Amino acid sequence: MSFPVLAIIGRPNVGKSTLFNRLIGRRKAIVRPEPGVTRDRHHARGEWNDRSFLAVDTGGISGPAEDPFNPLILRQTILAIEESDIVLFLTDGIEGLLPADRQIADHARRSQKPVFLAVNKCDTNRAKESLWDFSALGFGDPFPISAEHGTGIENLLEAAFARVPNDGKLEVESEEEIRVAVVGRPNVGKSSFVNRIIGKERALVSAVPGTTRDPIDSLCRRGDQAYRFVDTAGIRKRGKIGDEKVEFLSMIMAYRSIERAEVVLLIIDATDGPRMMDAQIARHIVESGRACIVLVNKWDLLEKETRTFDEKVTDIREKLVHLDFAPILSVSALTGQRCEHVFEDIRQVTAFHRQRISTRKLNLRVEKWVAAHPPHGGRNKKRPKIYYATQASTAPPHIVVFASRLPGKPYARYIERCLREDFDFSGTPIRVSFRKRE
Ligand code: GDP
Ligand code: GDP
Repeated sequence: MSFPVLAIIGRPNVGKSTLFNRLIGRRKAIVRPEPGVTRDRHHARGEWNDRSFLAVDTGGISGPAEDPFNPLILRQTILAIEESDIVLFLTDGIEGLLPADRQIADHARRSQKPVFLAVNKCDTNRAKESLWDFSALGFGDPFPISAEHGTGIENLLEAAFARVPNDGKLEVESEEEIRVAVVGRPNVGKSSFVNRIIGKERALVSAVPGTTRDPIDSLCRRGDQAYRFVDTAGIRKRGKIGDEKVEFLSMIMAYRSIERAEVVLLIIDATDGPRMMDAQIARHIVESGRACIVLVNKWDLLEKETRTFDEKVTDIREKLVHLDFAPILSVSALTGQRCEHVFEDIRQVTAFHRQRISTRKLNLRVEKWVAAHPPHGGRNKKRPKIYYATQASTAPPHIVVFASRLPGKPYARYIERCLREDFDFSGTPIRVSFRKRE
């Protein structure tokens, strides 16, 4: 499984969000001692030992302290368990085993998912002493951890990941076909769009047979190029489920299909514009290093004035800052307007995503960029000397710059800007990193 979903469940205040932040590699977060704080992100990509996963924090909605296990939290917890591949069940060693823990344990057990029980706050003696009480929950020996101090987490993850097969890194750089993910909020027109461009020629293929959630792909061709639209079954999935659940499911679906694709079509409703969820997906696209095109769908519903498109573009650029490199195309899945253009765009961004610039060509430019704007040394420090640069990998392009000392992040952004100006990288994120050399 190339992208397992890890759900962190447990009572309020046991340290779920602290653990979540640790798993996604974010240190200082919006963790506050008082309950009821809404967090900004409830799911994010994490990496551990070369394996990427989606961490889901169920701690977002918490009720009043005197009602530590209200129905809202319970619903969130059940939903998260259902959608996960691995359940991290977190408890609080300081408070000890409480009836609410048993209640959560029952739900977790019924799901028949692999459950890993961890007792948090084991940086305190109190927690260490109560550790074994938790064996009574029936998930075997609990893992003692301290989410705050980062101890015990390696053991926990090692055990957890041993339970999901690793089919390795996905090979996205296949020359024969381009893998495309279609993502966006509910009702923006994802399934209408896929129906429109694939229509009758849809050939359904199950990409990974035998998994619980078979991703169904659709294949099609334009000219001599084959395109694989990933997870199209998920896109058409319907049913009577609550809004909150639809949003949650589309997020997980988006994350999963982004992981399986090389190019992501992020669809936005023209009558509405980007929202919070789009910004989260955008961030994920960049973190995963995928190429991207933003499609503004339902263009037929807009009153046409000459400036309409420019205004939309400005709005999208402001709200989706992570995707400043992505081309924006207005389409209508209903009338078919400009839908066919998407194929040419996909082809182009894929070419840039896979582009390799020779070391010689690159260094001719790097010399100029550095001369025009040399890196700062910081206070009392010697100015870094830039030796040379080379492209370490493609898809996405990764440029490594060798220097006598490491310049800061702003300088990496400067180099990225120069790269984009002097070469064409539209539609693809670029990674720039520095390495020290004597
Ligand atoms: P959530 O409601 O389950 O998401 O819990 P939080 O992550 O917000 O943490 C609740 C409280 O427990 C905060 O005050 C944290 O600082 C504290 N906490 C979290 N992890 C640890 C830990 O490993 N040790 C100790 N001593 N406190 C912790
Ligand atoms: P999904 O949830 O993102 O897959 O969205 P759907 O494809 O189910 O579309 C949601 C609604 O928007 C449906 O009623 C569609 O008929 C409508 N819709 C989709 N694309 C367009 C479009 O380009 N123009 C208009 N006017 N309506 C559209």
